[in-house]
Amino acid sequence: MARQFFVGGNFKMNGSVDTIKSIIENLNNAKLDSKTEVVIAPPALYLLLAREHLRSGLEIAAQNVFDKPNGAFTGEISVSQLKESGVTWTLLGHSERRVVLKETDAFVASKTKAALDGGLSVILCCGESLEEREAGKTIEVVTAQLKAVADQVKDWSKIVIAYEPIWAIGTGKVATTQQAQDVHAAIREWLSKEVSAEASEKTRIIYGGSVSEKNCSELAKEKDIDGFLVGGASLKPAFVDIINANSA
Ligand code: PEP
Repeated sequence: MARQFFVGGNFKMNGSVDTIKSIIENLNNAKLDSKTEVVIAPPALYLLLAREHLRSGLEIAAQNVFDKPNGAFTGEISVSQLKESGVTWTLLGHSERRVVLKETDAFVASKTKAALDGGLSVILCCGESLEEREAGKTIEVVTAQLKAVADQVKDWSKIVIAYEPIWAIGTGKVATTQQAQDVHAAIREWLSKEVSAEASEKTRIIYGGSVSEKNCSELAKEKDIDGFLVGGASLKPAFVDIINANSA
């Protein structure tokens, strides 16, 4: 069975009430490939607004969630609070959180488990730095990040893996189709060995890192690239072209 193409939009800490409403209006009015699953991740403050305005069939993701159910955790948001607000997905393990906020592999894994246990789906990000790539450690780094999750999570059916080389995020420097395909294939092989044959066949592995309307069609042709996680370009009208990359 073919894997459904998946495109996520990570707004990061960008937007205002007006700009988010206008991005959503653009998506609501656009002709989107009905075979592609679309999820947008606005800042937490705008999740309810986004859910209220975004048309049904398009889903909302948080950019983060905490691994405790409730209590004295100032600044955090729980899985059940997201679910109650109509948020069905969360991003986890984005490199900006791993690097800037020092989130460890184990913490990302714990949050992934909490999200899945509570009924959210997870876009699980992984990726290497430029130094790690140049040292030939890409697969080692990425699979260590994934293994931390596999140690706690057996069912991967609600996980989409986003491979995002850090050196390609927000830099305009996209991985070549071959670089991306090679890592995606290695992740799929790792899934077959460490999780299951079913997870290897069915898990969507999407690419993120300076995806644009110009480079998306070539990347989408690769056998193991099942979609994209889009940062900067998800704030622009061209996001629609990226969503439709699989039918272009
Ligand atoms: C991201 O934030 O996940 C991302 C891939 O950003 P950009 O598309 O801007 O490189």
